[in-house]
Amino acid sequence: RKGIVSIVGRSNVGKSTLFNKLIQKKEAITEDTPGVTRDRLYREAEWQNNLFLLVDTGGYEKFKDDIISKNIKLQISLAIDSSDLVLFLVDGRVGILDEDREIADILRKSGKKVIVVVNKIDTHITPPSVYEFYELGFEDLFIISAEQSFGLGDLLDEIIKNI
Ligand code: GDP
Ligand code: MG
Repeated sequence: RKGIVSIVGRSNVGKSTLFNKLIQKKEAITEDTPGVTRDRLYREAEWQNNLFLLVDTGGYEKFKDDIISKNIKLQISLAIDSSDLVLFLVDGRVGILDEDREIADILRKSGKKVIVVVNKIDTHITPPSVYEFYELGFEDLFIISAEQSFGLGDLLDEIIKNI
């Protein structure tokens, strides 16, 4: 059975951007069909001959229009139950918001393996403020820029160690 890896986080932290980056290689090989766009919630990803199933939990936003925080909690519960590993994405420019703390609580209670992924660090110099995310209470913290593709190799190495 392939490992299932979910990307969880509040709106606008870059979940879909990261999802698209991580499935890119596999997509290019298997589904290079111009003009075909669809919602991608689940996609197979590959790193160094290791296949895993990646889940963009934010995709649920498209189907539900109720209160954001309630919606996010629902997405998370649905996704984490079936996950082997959770990537908890946060915005390194904005810092910790209440919503991040709420998500952290849910993830901690789930008992699943969680990696905190601090996104939007688009420079090669890491601002010390990113370490505040250790306050969320998880051991593993990775610093990336999904947009610039910084840190994705190290993150993928860690993903395949945990699935
Ligand atoms: P989601 O709501 O969590 O799925 O977030 P999106 O992937 O839709 O991204 C939200 C916004 O953040 C978009 O405008 C992205 O272009 C932007 N974004 C995503 N990743 C990065 C990043 O690494 N750096 C910067 N500067 N912006 C990013
Ligand atoms: Mg999204």
